[in-house]
Amino acid sequence: MKKLLLFLTLLPEIFIVQAQTRIIDMHIHSYTDSDFGEREAAGDHYGVKGSVNAEQHRMETFAAFERFNIVKAMVSGNPESVKNWKDKDDKNRVIRGILSFLPDDHGMDITKFEQMVKAGEIEIFGELGPYYSGTTLSDPEWQPYLRICEKYDIPVAVHTGDGDPGGTYSWAPKARLQLGDPYLIEDVLVNYPKLRIYMMHAGGEDWPEHAIRLMAYYPQLYTDIAVLLWVEPNTQRYVTEFLRNIKHAGYLDRVMFGSDQMTWPYAIGKSIDFLNSLEFLTEEDKEGIFYDNAARFLKLKE
Ligand SMILES: [Zn+2]
Repeated sequence: MKKLLLFLTLLPEIFIVQAQTRIIDMHIHSYTDSDFGEREAAGDHYGVKGSVNAEQHRMETFAAFERFNIVKAMVSGNPESVKNWKDKDDKNRVIRGILSFLPDDHGMDITKFEQMVKAGEIEIFGELGPYYSGTTLSDPEWQPYLRICEKYDIPVAVHTGDGDPGGTYSWAPKARLQLGDPYLIEDVLVNYPKLRIYMMHAGGEDWPEHAIRLMAYYPQLYTDIAVLLWVEPNTQRYVTEFLRNIKHAGYLDRVMFGSDQMTWPYAIGKSIDFLNSLEFLTEEDKEGIFYDNAARFLKLKE
């Protein structure tokens, strides 16, 4: 009897694990040794140390893909790191992004960009971080690249909300809180109505209501909820409120899971656990956030 009781109490958990068959992570970062840990502190908010080097980090992130049945992952980093991850990706999980704070990062120009798009070497234009370079996505230098994305139906992924506190005093001196406002991409939505685009971090702690209002006005706009799910207790509080509010508003079906593990692959599992712990979300809501909404956005074929 005791054994049976134990079995029964374990059942719901077993059920949840099995029901959540697939996950798409819309926010994963890759590195080479040249930029590994360049922008991140040694320990996270909780003092947890990151991976020791770029290759270890890739292996630990791939192990998390396997463990949590992450079937697709949007990987952004420098082009060399993304290529390396794709070369080692024997399960066809990696969607190739590119991390750019300015459009001409990594020696990029419009001709090279179009070539990479055509060759399938850039499948999503992002993570874009105009916030970190003191620009906005509506500024002139980004426009030729956005035109190419619209032409080839390449989705754009843009950072919204703030960055790491202290970043402005170190590696991103032009970063300003006000540049994280989602409303700053409104002209892009107006000028490229066919462009597939999602916000990263849903406006962060600064502008969650602006993120929701922008999604109300522009029905093509999606968002991820990356980093907020794990990085600090305060961001977890904000993302909980954001999810409650956007569910109430009726746009939860455009919210996508993302972890933004940076140099801490353990954050992937932590993000999944946190999302699963939110009791006001139904199992169907969670399936949508973990898989269905991103599958629709990405036009994945079954
Ligand atoms: Zn970001």
